[in-house]
Amino acid sequence: MDRKEFKLGLIGLGEMGKNLALNIGDHGFPVAVYNRTYAKTKQFMEDEVKGQAIQAVASLEELVKLMPRPRMVLLVVSSGPAIDNLIEELLPFLEPDDLIIDGGNTFFRDTDRRERTTAEKGVLYLGMGVSGGGFGARFGPSLMPGGSSKAYERVRPILEAISAKVDGDPCVTHLGPGSAGHYVKMVHNGIEYGLMQLIAEVYHLLKLGLGLNNDELHKVFSRWNQNKLNGYLMEITSRIFLKKDDQSSNRLIDQILDQAGQKGTGLWTSINALELQVPIPNIVLAEMMRDLSGQTEERQGINQIFHKSDRYLSKDREKVTAHLEQALYCGMILTFSQGLALLREASRTYKYDLVLQEVARIWRGGCIIRSALLEDIRSAYKKQPDLVHLLMDPNLAEKVRSSQKALRSAIKTAMGLNIPTPGLAASLAYFDSFCSPRLPTNLIQAQRDYFGAHTYQRIDRPGFFHGQWNRE
Ligand code: NDP
Repeated sequence: MDRKEFKLGLIGLGEMGKNLALNIGDHGFPVAVYNRTYAKTKQFMEDEVKGQAIQAVASLEELVKLMPRPRMVLLVVSSGPAIDNLIEELLPFLEPDDLIIDGGNTFFRDTDRRERTTAEKGVLYLGMGVSGGGFGARFGPSLMPGGSSKAYERVRPILEAISAKVDGDPCVTHLGPGSAGHYVKMVHNGIEYGLMQLIAEVYHLLKLGLGLNNDELHKVFSRWNQNKLNGYLMEITSRIFLKKDDQSSNRLIDQILDQAGQKGTGLWTSINALELQVPIPNIVLAEMMRDLSGQTEERQGINQIFHKSDRYLSKDREKVTAHLEQALYCGMILTFSQGLALLREASRTYKYDLVLQEVARIWRGGCIIRSALLEDIRSAYKKQPDLVHLLMDPNLAEKVRSSQKALRSAIKTAMGLNIPTPGLAASLAYFDSFCSPRLPTNLIQAQRDYFGAHTYQRIDRPGFFHGQWNRE
């Protein structure tokens, strides 16, 4: 193969890297690949490369030398220090105008720092979120690149070719400068946490509260997936119930421990939202429920004291199932609303200049949160690019208005059955709080002024006041 063809070098042949390499190769772009553990590279070349123009190399120096200038190096490795080390090792071989792309789940502040470091040598930098798991990486992910426009234009033909397509429209766009891409991916994952928590709660209610077996659960989720709840998470959920366990006579779902971990993006979203003072209760709650699920000693001890596992079944199967469909839909709209509200504020604070219509557009395909709802969200921002909050879009407002009663009913049913639904409850509390003409925060102002002289504001006069609370 002509060595001049290799404009792109890919580092990291883990789950995502190897699938991206094959995807890039399938689209006719020759790619040179390197992995720290060479045995993996060898195995990849032998077992998985089938005619694509993929060339394996054994060192970073070899990788860089194989490519003509300006070079593009795509990192698909574990986030954190591995990226810093690789940049440090690569920079001596790279020259001005070469480009490094970090395709991992990187904390956005690290991306800003690394862009500054590479810029000192004139090397361009893109931080790119990739969503869709291994399958998406192989056959079409949603790509969320951020950094300079010049860097994006360089790699754009490859990204557009390998990304997922919705009606021929590639699920990739230049999101903004600096860490815009990794920020959007972080919030994507935060929304993913929120949606998964809601789906899990509804599963719990259907199973424990209505007594549905796995076949029935499959049918309900499949049916819901045909309608307005259509989306990737619904699709895989419906399939999960059918999977047989190969080590017992049960379905696999019933053999899986009820503890969920996380790798950081949900936590970063939650911390950053608190810093930016944007309420995202569904996402924070989802993060906390995963933490709670892992507290086995506490769960066992407290359960023994309160014996809360006594359950009885609701007799209103059809009615409750119908409520749950609406409740889930309402909760999902409210979860997306929180994530998009965070993006809006982050765009202002970090000067990303995000076009939220574009964010919704590239999330419609390839990624984990792809769903029919994103078409509504996209058209909301298309009609009104400066929309203050998604609930102020007439179409989405109507959808929430018509489903919020069912959300209320579903929560009441769950409470009556002793089944925790904190995500559904957080959705409703978020909605009710925004709808309240007056919140009880006047009392909080009064308390703060009482004990700490923090002053309060009045409804009838501007300014800050301090009350003499101990006087009559
Ligand atoms: P894997 O665990 O499958 O692979 C990790 C890769 O990173 C391996 O190639 C490994 O090399 C390499 N690596 C780790 N540490 C170093 C280091 N210090 N120096 C050089 N190479 C190193 O990870 P994934 O492919 O799943 O993930 C890659 C990135 O993509 C991560 O940032 C992840 O968060 C992100 N991501 C993952 C998704 C998924 O569904 N898996 C979805 C979206 C994003 P070696 O073989 O030598 O160990």
